[in-house]
Amino acid sequence: AKAAGKAQAIVFSEEMLEGAPERLALETDFRHALERDEFTVVYQPKVGLKSGVTESLEALVRWIHPTRGFVGPDLFIPFAEESGLVMELGRVILEKACMDAVRWQQHNVVVAVNLSPIQFRNPNLVDEVRNALEMSGLDPKFLELEITESAVLGDVENTIRVMNELKTLGIRLAIDDFGTGYSNLAHLKHFNVDVLKIDQAFVRGGNGGPLDHLSDGAIVEAVIGMAKAFKLHVVAEGVESINHADELRTLGADLGQGFYFSRPVSGEGIDEFLAAEFSS
Ligand code: C2E
Ligand code: CA
Ligand code: CA
Ligand code: CA
Repeated sequence: AKAAGKAQAIVFSEEMLEGAPERLALETDFRHALERDEFTVVYQPKVGLKSGVTESLEALVRWIHPTRGFVGPDLFIPFAEESGLVMELGRVILEKACMDAVRWQQHNVVVAVNLSPIQFRNPNLVDEVRNALEMSGLDPKFLELEITESAVLGDVENTIRVMNELKTLGIRLAIDDFGTGYSNLAHLKHFNVDVLKIDQAFVRGGNGGPLDHLSDGAIVEAVIGMAKAFKLHVVAEGVESINHADELRTLGADLGQGFYFSRPVSGEGIDEFLAAEFSS
């Protein structure tokens, strides 16, 4: 199930943004970008480690800047969060992802959208998710929201309440970057979630070589054991080699996501990829 992922041009780097004028220009541009609809969503397959079939896609935002080209989220999500503009950006991403996901329901493929911790604390979140489902016509069972482990740990009472409300919509919930937040595992059983995503730090590592082994197999094994005890699906991120995929399958992870299977690709790319995968 190797997708035809095209490498993306990185014409914009962290170093380039170190200067204050550059940073300021980016911030001014960001506000205009929302008005001009310069954000797009790319999708990375999550592949069944046993079936080899794409079961889910993670939606990842990209900014198509008029002069700078493709800008990755690490360069603007922090600013979007500090300024509060992530609320508006998050709404745009959710709507775009739900509209794309409608085309992939026929293949039983779920689309997972990242939620910023700021969005997770927004009292209108549940209404916004409901609106995105209604306007797109997406069956809620094909929408998943990814919330980072660190975001859910802050105010546990609030987390439990918001998760329960979101679950009444019929969507799926995932805890992202699991293993990095020093979770009190006792909380996990109160969280109404479906999926645990093991952080890529425990999967990739090594030299980035084609035969790399798991970076921390013992942690991966422990997380999978715990996830199974709570009847959660396990997704491993950062799968870059065949050995990663084989070892994860042996340890009982359900899905793998990473450059070994595919880089993130455009919605049109996913249309073609799914049509090919499900025709054979
Ligand atoms: P994340 O949610 O942990 O997303 C996974 C990131 O790992 C993505 O980077 C993906 O391209 C990258 N990745 C996947 N497989 C591999 C692999 O095998 N090797 C390597 N080296 N990297 C891999 P991306 O798209 O640059 O996103 C970075 C982060 O930005 C995301 O981390 C997430 O925290 C944030 N982000 C992305 N899209 C959104 C969005 O729509 N909303 C919000 N709030 N945050 C987003
Ligand atoms: Ca994620
Ligand atoms: Ca992640
Ligand atoms: Ca991350």
